[in-house]
Amino acid sequence: MSIDPAAELPFFYGSISRFDAEQCLKLAGMSDGLFLLRQCLRSLGGYVLSVVWNLNFHHYSIERQLNGTYCIVGGKAHCGPAELCEYYSKDPDGLVCTLRKPCLRPPETPIRLGVFDSLRDNMLRDYVRQTWNLQGDEMEQAVISQAPNLERLIATTAHERMSWYHGKIPRQEGERRLYSGVQPDGKFLVRDRGEAGTFALSMVYGKTVYHYQILEDKSGKYSMPEGTKFDTIWQLVEYLKLKPDGLVTCLGEACSNGKSVDKKPSLPGSRQLFQKRADPNGYAPPPADLPTARDPLPMDDSTYHNPHELKMFNIKRSKLVLDEVELGSGNFACVKKGVLKTDKGQIDVAIKVLKNENHNLVKDEMMREAEIMYQLSNPYIVRMLGLCDAENLMLVMEMASAGPLNKFLANNRDTVTEENIVDLMHQVSVGMKYLEEKNFVHRDLAARNVLLVKPHYAKISDFGLSKALNADESYYKSRSGGKWPLKWYAPECISHRKFSSKSDVWSFGVTMWEAFSYGGKPYKKLKGQEVMDFVKSGQRLECPVGCPERMYSLMLECWSVELDKRPDFKKVEESMRLSHFSVSARSQAGEAAAAAADAQAVS
Ligand code: ADP
Ligand code: MG
Repeated sequence: MSIDPAAELPFFYGSISRFDAEQCLKLAGMSDGLFLLRQCLRSLGGYVLSVVWNLNFHHYSIERQLNGTYCIVGGKAHCGPAELCEYYSKDPDGLVCTLRKPCLRPPETPIRLGVFDSLRDNMLRDYVRQTWNLQGDEMEQAVISQAPNLERLIATTAHERMSWYHGKIPRQEGERRLYSGVQPDGKFLVRDRGEAGTFALSMVYGKTVYHYQILEDKSGKYSMPEGTKFDTIWQLVEYLKLKPDGLVTCLGEACSNGKSVDKKPSLPGSRQLFQKRADPNGYAPPPADLPTARDPLPMDDSTYHNPHELKMFNIKRSKLVLDEVELGSGNFACVKKGVLKTDKGQIDVAIKVLKNENHNLVKDEMMREAEIMYQLSNPYIVRMLGLCDAENLMLVMEMASAGPLNKFLANNRDTVTEENIVDLMHQVSVGMKYLEEKNFVHRDLAARNVLLVKPHYAKISDFGLSKALNADESYYKSRSGGKWPLKWYAPECISHRKFSSKSDVWSFGVTMWEAFSYGGKPYKKLKGQEVMDFVKSGQRLECPVGCPERMYSLMLECWSVELDKRPDFKKVEESMRLSHFSVSARSQAGEAAAAAADAQAVS
């Protein structure tokens, strides 16, 4: 789920110590330019490049910069660890030599996970489960889409999971705990000093307990006095196990807090990351209007809670209140705002009301739409809550009050960021991947049918044209043409009336184009037939102004005529996820930098 950008590199070892790295290089022959890459134990997301030259070892830290790029201090920035190593294999540019020979990780040796690597997934799951009340598949989907927003937040509270963390206990209680049982040198615990929330490290040496204050600088990094700085408390502790860094000795055995290691951490509140505590240098917490570490996430405070409790299928008319407000209208139905009364209170709903009740065909169509929706359960797909057959046939759905994506973007051009659009389109790709897995074809994916619950939360809607395929079918063949959204359709839909998840991928490309054009109309001046000719002649929609290159290349891939060359949603989602992760890492880093700068200004 959390993909380490170096995971694919055969010379990446993960979280190994400097000593271990040197052992590997020795075993591999110590030739000049022999190198390997390992995880940095100090900074989140950083690496260390270990190189041999002249029978000596050289270790270069690679920092993940605030803008999401990677560089060796003082060197050029690169977009990833792979690109960085590639660069230094051609040009030493300040290193002792070029990288000549990768020291390959033996095939039977897995990448060594760091302390946090093995906790992260569970912590993310716990967070999503507890915060949004999700389980199973739905939780997994939410974890995938929210990981980049949450990872850093979670990393900063990971120490609460460690057996050596004793929480808020007085100094004397710390001593008592360390003195009980055997007292080997290095036995230690970390406690919250209570007053102003700073941390202290207490350790045994020669049967005496020593206390050290853990310092926290203005940018939120932790260290021992004059020592190396770390992004998190647990990284500091891991490091002190290897090096004393000013202590009387290295940390040894953890004095256990007696709780199981995977106890529930307190969930980080939205301000925690930047809520810096007063430190001895008189540093004051930033004012309340600083950017929050955790902006409200899609699922916060929405219809998202316990969606299953709500699904009732046959809704009694007396439970529904229809509002006069019309949210939208089509040929056969209009969508109205309404309220559904449940045992737990009232919830806002959107109600699709059939206009022409006498028309049986139309009624059948709506029943089919309901049948499809009833089978779907995904955070990024509008949920059907039930049907109500009263004065009209009514399809009751959860409310997506911020409306269709195209209108939203057109109306909020100035405030919606690129990051926001990438996030939303990633959510759509997660929903579409789910449909692909369940063998449903949507057939009307377009920005008008992506509805927003709020500016950061998208759901796919309008299953009026959707079809469920049988297990042995790879496409749906339509018998008649009908009123089709031709501009969103792949060539095989129009020429052969063949619809598959791959043709939905084509539509996804057009939807992406609409999104990055802030609700622009695709193939503006062209009519249906002209669009077909345009596409057949090999031409494609142009890259929208300001649209990231990576996103436009994905659109072009979605518009491959040959099905083999067109990615499936599994690939599309992966690609969107990587972009989403890197864009949000960049902007989070930017926010952190801004907060740090602001903090500097207030102190
Ligand atoms: P049609 O087949 O007529 O396009 P849609 O299902 O797309 O029907 O709904 C038409 C319009 O109604 C949408 O564009 C949207 O503005 C509004 N609408 C539909 N479903 C919802 C919903 N769940 N929440 C809010 N608005 C909705
Ligand atoms: Mg529609």
